[in-house]
Amino acid sequence: MPFSESLKKKIRKRANFQCCMCHTVGVDIHHIVPQADGGENIEDNAAPLCPNCHSIYGANPQKRKTIREMRDHWYKRCAEPSMTTSKRNVINFPKGINKGIIANNINKVEIKTQNETVKINPPEGSIASSSVHKRYIKYLIDRYHEFKKSDVGRERMKYPILYDSIKRKFGAKWDMIPIERFDRLSEYLQQRIDRTILGKTRKSKGQKNYSAFLEYCDKHGG
Ligand SMILES: [Zn+2]
Repeated sequence: MPFSESLKKKIRKRANFQCCMCHTVGVDIHHIVPQADGGENIEDNAAPLCPNCHSIYGANPQKRKTIREMRDHWYKRCAEPSMTTSKRNVINFPKGINKGIIANNINKVEIKTQNETVKINPPEGSIASSSVHKRYIKYLIDRYHEFKKSDVGRERMKYPILYDSIKRKFGAKWDMIPIERFDRLSEYLQQRIDRTILGKTRKSKGQKNYSAFLEYCDKHGG
């Protein structure tokens, strides 16, 4: 027996019609523990997944815990007022500082002079809007720089190069890239790491150059 239509509808709504892993819009409701393994048709056993994530993670029993964590994390995000009242993309400038700040990809700027803090809410659907995805990309960028530094030496290290090539290739600053392209960006960075001299050397010795996304989630939490 599948999930009831009313439960599926409820879950889709709860997840903002987005995949709980990659936040792509358009999902099916999947059993975390399959029915064949005794999984029940209850909300706790249901995960909103896009076809891509379902085919990647769905059949892997080791990923059940991660899927559940990512799902609960996503439900929490969807329940935040910022997701429901479209108060995103708001910049609050501190008192007196309201000149010359340019924000790319920001749809709306609000100046509140009584506010003493600067707060920028990342655009919805960007990598920056999901902390786990953002942390993983930053991890790969740092990892690349670590490897590259070992190749060329500290003095010859040019950090802007990678950031510029991401911008050229993906058309935006790394954390402003749409989350739909998260897999593609991860792959790109992983390839860059693998192509460093240190990366090639380690690979030839059978050593791992980085954690895969789900390994990273397991280690650092969803
Ligand atoms: Zn997905």
